[in-house]
Amino acid sequence: MGIVVQKYGGSSLADADAIKRVARRIVEIKKAGNDVVVAVSAMGDTTDDLYDLANGVSPLPPAREMDMLLTAGERISMALVAMAISDLGYTARSFTGSQAGVITDAVHGKAKIIDVTPGRITEALGEGHIVIVAGFQGVSADTKEITTLGRGGTDTTAVALAAALEADVCEIYTDVDGVFTADPRIVPSARKLDRVSYEEMLELAACGAKILHLRCVEYGRRYGIPIHVRSSFSRLEGTWVVDDPARDETAQGETVEQPIIAGVAHDRSEAKITVVGVPDKVGEAARIFEALADAQINLDMIVQNVSAAATSLTDISFTLPRSDGQTAMTALARIQAEVGYDKLLYDDKIGKISLIGAGMRSHPGITSKFFAAIASAGVNIEMISTSEIRISVIVDEKDVDDAVRSTHTAFDLDADEVEAVVYGGTGR
Ligand code: ASP
Ligand code: MG
Repeated sequence: MGIVVQKYGGSSLADADAIKRVARRIVEIKKAGNDVVVAVSAMGDTTDDLYDLANGVSPLPPAREMDMLLTAGERISMALVAMAISDLGYTARSFTGSQAGVITDAVHGKAKIIDVTPGRITEALGEGHIVIVAGFQGVSADTKEITTLGRGGTDTTAVALAAALEADVCEIYTDVDGVFTADPRIVPSARKLDRVSYEEMLELAACGAKILHLRCVEYGRRYGIPIHVRSSFSRLEGTWVVDDPARDETAQGETVEQPIIAGVAHDRSEAKITVVGVPDKVGEAARIFEALADAQINLDMIVQNVSAAATSLTDISFTLPRSDGQTAMTALARIQAEVGYDKLLYDDKIGKISLIGAGMRSHPGITSKFFAAIASAGVNIEMISTSEIRISVIVDEKDVDDAVRSTHTAFDLDADEVEAVVYGGTGR
């Protein structure tokens, strides 16, 4: 008996039957004597459809109205799940993010949770209700406006609720059986990880693995909430995201050997900008990146070439989210005269492949094996970056699948038998 926090993703709530199935699963937990709090995403591809709708009405929808629109998706789910639960003879109370006390900063479209004040949730639990919370949304303490947390943000809602309610675990229900060594949609022989560290999961999430929202993992690590990622379509044990995967709490004091590589992630959501012909002198890079920071743009990789001796001009390339591409180009165009660069190049036909594993720290030769795997797939590398436990490369977008498969095989990650089942979702 305790508080169980669960999250159900859009593909687990795709239609009326799916919602009834989820409601049965929620009620089982309640029946077992637990208090249950559930964060829900919008049904199926609702969020994408709402985006399309907005763009059909306006090429540049105001961010505030976009959030008003998108939060409606989760609101539909929460009410329907609560109705399905009441049909099973249990009472549920649904709450919007704002009602549930999810307080965020004021940034529309990618707000950060700054506090959770779950008074109404604990009150409803005290009255014996199951609580359903609309994911991916909150309210700004400053502006009083409704905000969204960025795509996939319901994961973060769930973990933030788990932290605020001091739950023992946060269960993330999705359409695959857990975290795999690669996206099973591209690598059918991908293997399920039983356990993975927050640290590795952070890198995986930051490098495009869509399985968990990045902030959700940050939150889990900060508050020490174990995250159990599993399928709502099967009863299988999923993947545990924990502090130290080598420590097996079930077998006292025993340690389990951890693999060197946790997985291969890929990302098709970035673009590359090259600032050509930047005068090679003090302060130029600072000026360029200041302009991008002022425009609220998060950069990923940055490469500055050695300047040509004859001209003493250099090129600076960096990657950023495609969705920020236009904003960045406009911000840079504004400082062209001041910086004195030659021109800007924009390329959004790129993809990023990342190899991640804490074992990299202590095992040499990983980088060369990775590059060899990419070469053997006939793929050219455009940019490289590394962290202590990750190596990433930028390649042509069309080469992403081949490079991922080749890397997965080179590091012996392929399972003998296909164990990756994609139960639902359109992968949109
Ligand atoms: N419905 C939102 C999305 O599709 C949030 C979520 O699913 O977590 O991004
Ligand atoms: Mg979704």
